[in-house]
Amino acid sequence: MHAKNNILLSIEDLKVYFRSEDEVARAVDGVSFDVRREETVCLVGESGCGKTVTALSVMGLVPIPPGEIAGGRVLFRDQNLLDYNDNEMQKIRGNQIAMVFQEPLTSLNPVFTIGDQIGEAIRTHEDVPESEVIGRSEQLLKDVGIASPAERLNDYPHQLSGGQRQRVMIAMALACGPDLIIADEPTTALDVTVQAQILRLLGSIQKQRSMSVLYITHDLGVVSKVADRVSVMYAGIIAEQGNRQDIFNDPKHPYTQALLASLPNREKRGQRLYSIPGTVPNPAYKPGGCPFHPRCQYAIQICREQYPAMCGYGNGHNARCPVIFDGGRKNWGR
Ligand code: SF4
Repeated sequence: MHAKNNILLSIEDLKVYFRSEDEVARAVDGVSFDVRREETVCLVGESGCGKTVTALSVMGLVPIPPGEIAGGRVLFRDQNLLDYNDNEMQKIRGNQIAMVFQEPLTSLNPVFTIGDQIGEAIRTHEDVPESEVIGRSEQLLKDVGIASPAERLNDYPHQLSGGQRQRVMIAMALACGPDLIIADEPTTALDVTVQAQILRLLGSIQKQRSMSVLYITHDLGVVSKVADRVSVMYAGIIAEQGNRQDIFNDPKHPYTQALLASLPNREKRGQRLYSIPGTVPNPAYKPGGCPFHPRCQYAIQICREQYPAMCGYGNGHNARCPVIFDGGRKNWGR
């Protein structure tokens, strides 16, 4: 498979906490995963599980304070981005790592034209003559499948459809040729047909430009279509990780199994869908032991007392559940 030097981004034991006067929310609590060159990794979990905070940490966009990087490393091309200052991070953002957000209408500035905004994305990182900025902006719109790109450059965001706006966001992300795109719920606000078009577009651009993509999503349907590898997050930790086939065909962690059981499919048509009992814990008041234990049908006494270690099934497939691994005989404690 891929060699170690194929790794573009490596997140190692990342911890991001948010402090207020009387509590500490451990939003990301020891997360590790890699993104290799040209691959698609999905970070999946329910809202509030820490996946967006993980993405913001890579971009250097966690508000500090109240946020605090409490530990770990974010290695991009073997350099720890957590050591970079604001200026250095500014150069990385857009240039080497770009982000596409969920709601393009709030991410685009309503008072500037599409041309202004794509042009700005180019000018921020490169000193190029104005005529070239316009030509490149037009080409970027063409690359993301927008018809009559020269005319669209003069449009304002509200004149475009939701799908077109998301294409513009992707064009802006591509403006300086990044190696990694982080797409945070890029299709959640779109209807199903447009969703499929945007996923196909991102996939074909990724191939053409040999980029890596890190998807942040709650939607296992999206994951099943795009992922090479998957990390399932729960309450600030990685519950399970592996390649797409292992996660979908042979899930080991009870949380992944429950997420998959709640996914609609043809066989379940007409049946009531399974929903996981309980709710995601507040990151300031996480239960001790395994954070999933209050919702887990397999929980035994030790799950309430000891933190579960990652258990390996081979080929990079790991799950943080010793009970499923060997009946809970070993693999406990941090
Ligand atoms: Fe469930 Fe225990 Fe496994 Fe946690 S460690 S997922 S509570 S069985």
